[in-house]
Amino acid sequence: MAETLLDRLKARIVRDGPISVADYMAACLGDPAFGYYMRRDPFGAHGDFTTAPEISQTFGELLGLWCAETWRQIGEPAPVYLVELGPGRGTLMADALRAVGKALPAFREALDPHLIETSPALRTIQKKTIGDATWHDDIAGLPDGPTLLLANEFFDALPIHQFVGKDRRERMIGLDGQNLAFTEDADDIVETCPAGQEIAAEIGRRLSAHGGAALIIDYGPAQSGPGDSLQAVRNHAYHPVLETPGEADLTAHVDFQALLTAARDAGATGYGPISQRDLLRRLGIETRIQALVPNADAAQQEAIVSGYRRLTDTDQMGTLFKAIALTGPDSPVPPAFDE
Ligand code: SAH
Repeated sequence: MAETLLDRLKARIVRDGPISVADYMAACLGDPAFGYYMRRDPFGAHGDFTTAPEISQTFGELLGLWCAETWRQIGEPAPVYLVELGPGRGTLMADALRAVGKALPAFREALDPHLIETSPALRTIQKKTIGDATWHDDIAGLPDGPTLLLANEFFDALPIHQFVGKDRRERMIGLDGQNLAFTEDADDIVETCPAGQEIAAEIGRRLSAHGGAALIIDYGPAQSGPGDSLQAVRNHAYHPVLETPGEADLTAHVDFQALLTAARDAGATGYGPISQRDLLRRLGIETRIQALVPNADAAQQEAIVSGYRRLTDTDQMGTLFKAIALTGPDSPVPPAFDE
């Protein structure tokens, strides 16, 4: 039988001892040969999960208009980098570019799209969806200059560490017979995401040095707190975290306060979190939906309205998902964060 990531991880644990949750997440998602994102397209009805830009075109359109309005607020620098972290299928960026091309052609001409993406499979899809752009493996590869940055469901895929007990022992993954097993129970867990904090700090440094703004959308509580948030999803259903590594999506809640602190310490101004519902409503999702409906057939109308509900209803993605904004030190308050 062909080797699997599970075989490799077991061999690694036998050789080197238990691995951290962060090492496990990094291998499951990013292993060049077996990582979940590296060789497949996980999105949509036939994939494992779906995301806001795949649910409604209004999501990318409104985020594009947020960038356009912010660009005007900061004095219309040209050129300006329009950066997306983890663009998935490229749907958000394509919707954003189309919307700003119509609403503010001067911004469309001034902007230069840059995409941060590690997965070769998803880069291929993004090239088809978006066309001309520049790709980088990580944010350190971006050129210096004014930047408008978007990230949707990017930070939840970054490796977290888990700690337990008063002495904050790191929760590791070892072997129990032939199976992967946690070395500690899930009581009293505290999570940290140094990779996310480093990226937030890097964004903060860039915004404070060169100007611009960032809009980060993800899911997690508004305030930091303890708890085990590591979860696996396969085929639109929860899946045991340690089963079939590399075959399921693995995520953890985003600690918005930690991201804000890291970016502020690096010189940026931080706003939020606000709910996704408030963000999209303040950016005019209802007007946009009303404009789309008359041009659609009955089936499309239903999809447009149900997409709107999924993104904004409080029992769907409306409040679980939240947004923070970061800006350079002298920028005005960005759209939707001034209420
Ligand atoms: N933003 C998209 C996709 C979210 S899934 C959407 O909303 O549909 C996470 C995305 O981040 C994928 O494109 C994945 O390949 C990418 N990714 C995950 N970890 C990454 C990392 N460390 N560096 C760069 N990209 C990463």
